Amino acid sequence: MAETLTTEARRVSAPHSTRSPHSTDPTRSARSGRSATVRDIAVVGAGAAGTLTAMRLLRNAAEHRAPACRVWLIDPAPTGLGLAFSTNEPHHLLNVPATNMSAHVDEPGHFVQWLSRHGHGDGFVPRGRYGRYLADSLDEAAALPGAPQLLRLHERVVSVGHVDGDRDDDRAAPVELTFGTGQVLSVHAVVLALGNFPPDDSWAPPALRDAVGFFPDPWVAGLSAAVGDTGDVLLVGTGLTMVDIAHTLQRPGRVVHAVSRHGLLPQRHSDPLVPPADRPDLEGPTGLAELRRAVLSHLSRCRRTHGDWRPGMDSLRADTTALWQRLSPDDQARFMREDLRHWETHRHRIPPSSAEALQAAVDAGRVSLGRGTVTQATATSDGIRVVLDDARTLSVTAVVNCTGSRTDLTRVDDPLVTSLLRSGFAQAAPLGGFRTGSSGALLPAPGRTRAPLWTLGSLRRGDLLESTAIPEIRRQADSIARTLLSPSGVAAARGHAEQGGTHRS
Ligand SMILES: Cc1cc2nc3c(=O)[nH]c(=O)nc-3n(C[C@H](O)[C@H](O)[C@H](O)COP(=O)(O)OP(=O)(O)OC[C@H]3O[C@@H](n4cnc5c(N)ncnc54)[C@H](O)[C@@H]3O)c2cc1C
Repeated sequence: MAETLTTEARRVSAPHSTRSPHSTDPTRSARSGRSATVRDIAVVGAGAAGTLTAMRLLRNAAEHRAPACRVWLIDPAPTGLGLAFSTNEPHHLLNVPATNMSAHVDEPGHFVQWLSRHGHGDGFVPRGRYGRYLADSLDEAAALPGAPQLLRLHERVVSVGHVDGDRDDDRAAPVELTFGTGQVLSVHAVVLALGNFPPDDSWAPPALRDAVGFFPDPWVAGLSAAVGDTGDVLLVGTGLTMVDIAHTLQRPGRVVHAVSRHGLLPQRHSDPLVPPADRPDLEGPTGLAELRRAVLSHLSRCRRTHGDWRPGMDSLRADTTALWQRLSPDDQARFMREDLRHWETHRHRIPPSSAEALQAAVDAGRVSLGRGTVTQATATSDGIRVVLDDARTLSVTAVVNCTGSRTDLTRVDDPLVTSLLRSGFAQAAPLGGFRTGSSGALLPAPGRTRAPLWTLGSLRRGDLLESTAIPEIRRQADSIARTLLSPSGVAAARGHAEQGGTHRS
């Protein structure tokens, strides 16, 4: 039996509601006289991207007296800070300086001011601190006078469907979200902020995948305790994740080995930080080969004029997506094969203190870094024996997959993603994430009706290339919020609103 959303909202969300004392009851919006339409916007995923989207919806709606709406923030995770910022480990540092980590596009100093108010300096601060900042900023937005109601549900969304399929106009259709519990929530628009999926482990021989000491997901809760304090460890992957996990798993008498196909390590930020150089003129080059030459010559010029390539690299950031989208699909695929690793190690750098700690561990023999791939593995009575492609054999108690989040959605084992692709509401982008239109609207499969679904962050990586860090995510969150709160956003959802939102058990 369907029940009205207003009734159910009280019952389902009350224990988790972050509604402030300033907010009014759930029927407030409908009675406020601003609009007869109560629109329900669901943000699925409450990591950094979902939190920033909810925050922007609340702030923009309050500031611009937007039409009435309710914001549902849905994530099974109790903290809701996502993968990167729920860590409590003090050595897990931001890899972007605090000055560039504000939650708000229009207030660049917001995070630094928050740090100062809480007695902290800026720079590369612990990521857990950024998580607390995000949580505070969300509460702050929910407490703004006139902010929509924020309702939190600790649920996993497993599928998306039409509320009614026989619409006779071209307006976007409303959607039904089904939770793992079987409950259904009907809303007018959905933002999918699903973030990072566990890494691909298809590189691992079957015997390794079956071994007790194999950890396919480096961010699994309690990794350190599960690995234990004795025996050497092998990390597969030598990027940003490896730097964190190597630090976490170091113990006296243990060697943490880390290998990858290329053996490339993340570069370090300069100390002190240097601002980006002037943006280069890259209007001319169209193909990948020409673009590579132009970029390399820009970096060499920066090395000569600034004594460092980093300001040159950072000056490319604002134009990266436009340059990426100018490349042909063949050139994009070639970049992924031939350039991505070098691009990422130079683009996503580690703080100087993390680089120094890693070097000290290497010098002390606690960490060993290099090139290598796993060719064979055998479970033994006290761990795993691994053979690498250079014929080295390592006896370790654990192998941790640090190869980075899986981006090919056709290979992600996730019921919601599978449902979106199967139903045709979404298409996988050939180079990762979903195919998206402007403001992150999901592009449906050919011939299918567009549903009011948006996405952001790493789920747009194939389309945008530069789409995984906060500076890009906060802009995308703002753009989605503006779209959803605009008069055309209201029009798109109106058909459903007239029928009334429903939440069923
Ligand atoms: C270790 C690490 C460190 C990083 N450090 C930085 C940094 O210093 N600076 C920076 O700018 N960027 C950093 N990044 C990039 C980072 O990915 C983004 O900044 C940001 O954390 C991404 O947030 P997200 O919300 O997109 O994803 P996630 O953090 O992965 O969150 C996604 C959330 O969605 C939820 N979810 C998924 N599926 C469902 C579903 N079906 N139903 C309900 N909920 C669901 C999950 O439970 C999760 O809470 C880092 C990334 C990693 C992995």
